[in-house]
Amino acid sequence: MRNIDDLPIRDELKGKSPYGAPQLHVPVLLNTNENPYSLPDALVARIAERVAEAARDLNRYPDRDAIELRTALAGYLSASTGHAVSTEQVWAANGSNEIIQQLLQTFGGPGRTALGFAPTYQMHDLISRGTGTGWIEGPRNPDFTIDVVSAEAVLAADRPDVLFVCSPNNPTGTAVARETVERLYDAAQAVKPTLVIVDEAYVEFSHQPSLLPLLEGRPLLVVTRTMSKAFGAAGLRLGYLAAAPAVVDAVQLVRLPYHLSAVTQATALAALEFTDVLLGYVDRLKAERDRIVTELRALGLEVTDSDANFVQFGRFEDTHAVWQAILDQGVLVRDNGVPGRLRVTAGTPAENDAFLDAVRFALPSPA
Ligand code: PMP
Repeated sequence: MRNIDDLPIRDELKGKSPYGAPQLHVPVLLNTNENPYSLPDALVARIAERVAEAARDLNRYPDRDAIELRTALAGYLSASTGHAVSTEQVWAANGSNEIIQQLLQTFGGPGRTALGFAPTYQMHDLISRGTGTGWIEGPRNPDFTIDVVSAEAVLAADRPDVLFVCSPNNPTGTAVARETVERLYDAAQAVKPTLVIVDEAYVEFSHQPSLLPLLEGRPLLVVTRTMSKAFGAAGLRLGYLAAAPAVVDAVQLVRLPYHLSAVTQATALAALEFTDVLLGYVDRLKAERDRIVTELRALGLEVTDSDANFVQFGRFEDTHAVWQAILDQGVLVRDNGVPGRLRVTAGTPAENDAFLDAVRFALPSPA
């Protein structure tokens, strides 16, 4: 048994590749939608303090229910959306990927299906399969918005158990209108009780307000969030959800005991103390994102409207060649497999200048 093909792994995993963007060492990394600003010194010091406190008790298991952290996250959600969220409505895990996995372990699984609108965040598909949940792709309009009428038809025909609405959507950057989510929720419930997961990983960068207030009166709606993007803490691995308390209770059935280490909880709490400072970078990144859209359009490229910290652009006949030509200039962007299109994360102004120069260089000169 020398390689993976010889091992008796599950049939649905055979021939698959692990998810992950190339981690190449080039000067400008704009491929994984990270925040380019490192944490301020005062926060680094506060993390050291909080972690030192937690370290003394590492002989004990951490707070399994992460009450202090969930309370702080509920405070952030309530203050930033104007919609009151309680500790009982919030759950946290190691990145929103783990949150999504726990939701699928609870509401999906063998014999069940999840539906998302392609192209969308690939991990929705992969985590579905990884939890034995069948994956169904719903359609999008040519401008990557969701077509509610065809979505309603797909929901009625395919009867999924879980529905993903990614807003803003990765990799297109497209935000979903509140009315669209309301209609999708109702259309799904009209067929059968369906968990509707609104993935708001990038919502802090959106021109539109959060969809969180839709939780009111919708017991099967879940909003997932992360500290990886707007909070600039991708290395922390902290994602969370807001939903009805019953959904949070249900997820307890599958979470591993003590899944969130005391070090993670202490670090996340320190970061949340610095919410205002960290979110101060969001305005800069939004302005840079808008500048990238404008400048790429000025180059004659087709650019999808973006509500996230990244921009989808094209169209290219040979997408890989353009990706490589940009990389040859020292700038790493992402090929998500959307035909003719690439995705760039908004970085610092200097990084974005380097990217725009690389694109100008990579584009074939006009005939
Ligand atoms: N949702 C979306 C739409 C994402 O793009 C990502 C990260 N790329 C995640 C969830 C997961 O983020 P994390 O696990 O770092 O919270």
